[in-house]
Amino acid sequence: MPIRVTVWHEHRHEKTSKAVQAVYPKGMQNAFKKAIEEHLGDEVKVRVALLDDAEHGLSDKILKNTDVMTWWGHGAHGEVKDEIAQKVAQRVREGMGLIVLHSGHYSKPFKLLMGTNCHLKWREAGEKERLWNVSPGHPITAGLSKDYIELEHEEMYGEHFDIPDPDELVFVSWFEGGEIFRSGCVWKRGAGKVFYFRPGHETFPTYFHPDIKRVIANAVKYVAPATDTAPYRNGSPNIKEPLSPIATKHVVDEALHRH
Ligand code: ZN
Repeated sequence: MPIRVTVWHEHRHEKTSKAVQAVYPKGMQNAFKKAIEEHLGDEVKVRVALLDDAEHGLSDKILKNTDVMTWWGHGAHGEVKDEIAQKVAQRVREGMGLIVLHSGHYSKPFKLLMGTNCHLKWREAGEKERLWNVSPGHPITAGLSKDYIELEHEEMYGEHFDIPDPDELVFVSWFEGGEIFRSGCVWKRGAGKVFYFRPGHETFPTYFHPDIKRVIANAVKYVAPATDTAPYRNGSPNIKEPLSPIATKHVVDEALHRH
């Protein structure tokens, strides 16, 4: 069974900004889709959902049939319906993988899953960025040729990044201006995994960079739910003969005496 991926994209900058159109003439969503398909081929089935689609392209049926979702948003986080954001977060708790990209740090589903403000510092100066691999051997870093990824021009995101401590820290970025940033982080939420990956400002061709494409594809496999796990929540069968209140008291008294 292929991993069913839904690429979710805000898709607004491409409609209003010539600079963004020039970099992503087919829309950023197409770059995400290509990156995943190029590396994973038949292992995935990728669909695209956009903010302006009915129900943001995230009907209950599509959500139910999504194993991994990628999320890029920026200027229109507020237009995502609360109810749908809640459903996305709930699907993660049930086992869906979620890959949150760049300015998705302020998206509703990510904030719901983190429970923090997700604030950070930022500067648009087209600085050089180096994403250092601080977790050698991590599956998300498979196939990278060096121990860092270098991007010639990116927007700077700096610490402090207001997130819960990640369960796994995969990349830490250095920027030309001197800041650092936790730029590749994994969390478990319920039965699902969340991967936040920092780079990807809309005016830079970051999502065409071979190593960035590889990391996104690796992350799809990494956060995808295992197919043969036990249900996340199942009923606990009752004991055969419930203890009578007197018997319960006896058990408790004995336990208290023992300690
Ligand atoms: Zn940006």
